[in-house]
Amino acid sequence: MTEETIFDKILRGEIPAHKVYEDEHTFAFLDIAPINKGHTLVIPKNSTRNILTADEETFAHVMETVRTLSPKIKEAVGADGITIGINNEAAGGQEVFYLHAHIIPRFENDGRKHWGGESYKDGEAEATLEKIVNQLKN
Ligand code: AMP
Repeated sequence: MTEETIFDKILRGEIPAHKVYEDEHTFAFLDIAPINKGHTLVIPKNSTRNILTADEETFAHVMETVRTLSPKIKEAVGADGITIGINNEAAGGQEVFYLHAHIIPRFENDGRKHWGGESYKDGEAEATLEKIVNQLKN
């Protein structure tokens, strides 16, 4: 069973939120600490911890709402682009353990940089790929 989170309380209306959208399967509201104005979180009504625990249908509903809302939010705030993010587990940046997708309006030169990548050393890409492909067989 998933532990109770602040998003369960928002969904039940026990604590306030700025509701952006709601349908049968999902609920969307403004992030309380926006990366840019209009930063919105989409959650499923069917509570689950994150993408590692979500069933196919639950995740599909979240992504369908993300797809519906993204162009509307972009237009509404006059953004130049949108970044979609889902953090999973503490090491993945997750702070609230209730599946949520971030819809983040982006502006040219908004200074919100992606983290830097590093190169694979010799043989590392192939070794990593082999591990992932083996997992896919399970
Ligand atoms: P994450 O690191 O992906 O788990 O992000 C959690 C997000 O939830 C952060 O961006 C917070 O600003 C946001 N958040 C936390 N509490 C609330 C709240 N009561 N209402 C709206 N957003 C919240």
